[in-house]
Amino acid sequence: MELSGAWQSAARGAMLLGGDGALKPTIFAEMSALAMSTGAINLGQGFPDEDGSPEVLEAARQAISDGWNQYPPGLGFPVLREAISAHQHRFYGLSVDPDREVIVTAGATEALAASILALVEPGDEVVTFEPFYDSYAAMIALSGAVHRTVPLRAPHFQPDHDELRRAVTDRTRIILINDPHNPTGAMMDRPTLELVVELANRHDALIVTDEVYEHLTFGQPHIPIATLPGASDRTVTISSAGKTFSTTGWKVGWMTGPHDLLQAVLAVKQFLTYVNAAPFQPAIAVGLGLPEEFFRGVASVLQRKRDLLSAGLTRAGFSVSESQGSYFVVADAAPLGFTDAADLCRSLPTLAGVVAVPISAFVTDEHKSDYASLVRFAFCKRVDVLERASAQLARLSR
Ligand code: PMP
Ligand code: GLN
Repeated sequence: MELSGAWQSAARGAMLLGGDGALKPTIFAEMSALAMSTGAINLGQGFPDEDGSPEVLEAARQAISDGWNQYPPGLGFPVLREAISAHQHRFYGLSVDPDREVIVTAGATEALAASILALVEPGDEVVTFEPFYDSYAAMIALSGAVHRTVPLRAPHFQPDHDELRRAVTDRTRIILINDPHNPTGAMMDRPTLELVVELANRHDALIVTDEVYEHLTFGQPHIPIATLPGASDRTVTISSAGKTFSTTGWKVGWMTGPHDLLQAVLAVKQFLTYVNAAPFQPAIAVGLGLPEEFFRGVASVLQRKRDLLSAGLTRAGFSVSESQGSYFVVADAAPLGFTDAADLCRSLPTLAGVVAVPISAFVTDEHKSDYASLVRFAFCKRVDVLERASAQLARLSR
């Protein structure tokens, strides 16, 4: 039987169809499989190799014992929605109605999918920066929208404001931003955020903002775009517990935003998963209520790991961009004589016993050559693992 349909659009959008038309795994799945089969250190897929806060883990065990094991309400358990609302107020001064302006989702991935599917019509344009997280392109393609991108160029990965102005037009339905940014580790400065808001207002576009790394920043504070004047009534803000609490496998995410926009998104979300993660929801509510030292601690531990791996990569001969947030750092392999990072990543387990991801996996075919020698390394790993990886990567320059 010939199969075709939505999966092909999604796969093509995410550049996951091989020359033979077969579906390829995502770059993260491919690189984690390579790490498994070679025994190399996995600095590819971004997930921590240590558990996070014990209070949060214990709260989940307790919730299972206490019987939080059936379907939560469609919006998520009130205790978590209230904790999300309190978190937005505590950290950013935002007022979010827990009953009307919050939806709990199956990770940020579902929040992104449901937002894009609900809010665009076929033929509308969605503007993202490039490189972009892989699910954006897949969901934009699946929705039938047209994907326009604005380049973020090495080494600082900040957008050119004129290019951003040219990309947003009356055809734009959504400006989809990701701050702090995966894969580059860049953070958007206030003038850029202001320009996004100005353009969204001028062209009557919505803003969807993926802030899953909101607490993983190294020095400069995170500015949620929804806090800017003129933003809140057209912005859907998405986050996830996976990164902050080292619980990527729990898939607890959420979105906040104006009630009418969230109602539209809920219409799609309720037929994607309906609900998920019952006992993990009250546990994440505990996490969101932890004292500020917890959040500062997460960022400062990660900052030391960033410094350790960045120094190791520099010693190994890479030219390293400064990561301002997220748990990723971009390194240019050109000074080591490697001009094709995709080739390098395939042989890196043999050359250095390390797995990483080429930045070309996060860009359109058209722009692959602009990013050809760049590699993304994840530093959300134990210190001894990062030290070992650094020592092994030093073999590249010998
Ligand atoms: N957005 C970005 C930028 C991410 O890096 C990730 C995952 N690493 C996600 C969304 C997906 O988050 P979740 O695992 O909560 O679905
Ligand atoms: N977001 C993680 C990363 O960027 C991977 C998530 C996934 O495997 N889909 O590495």
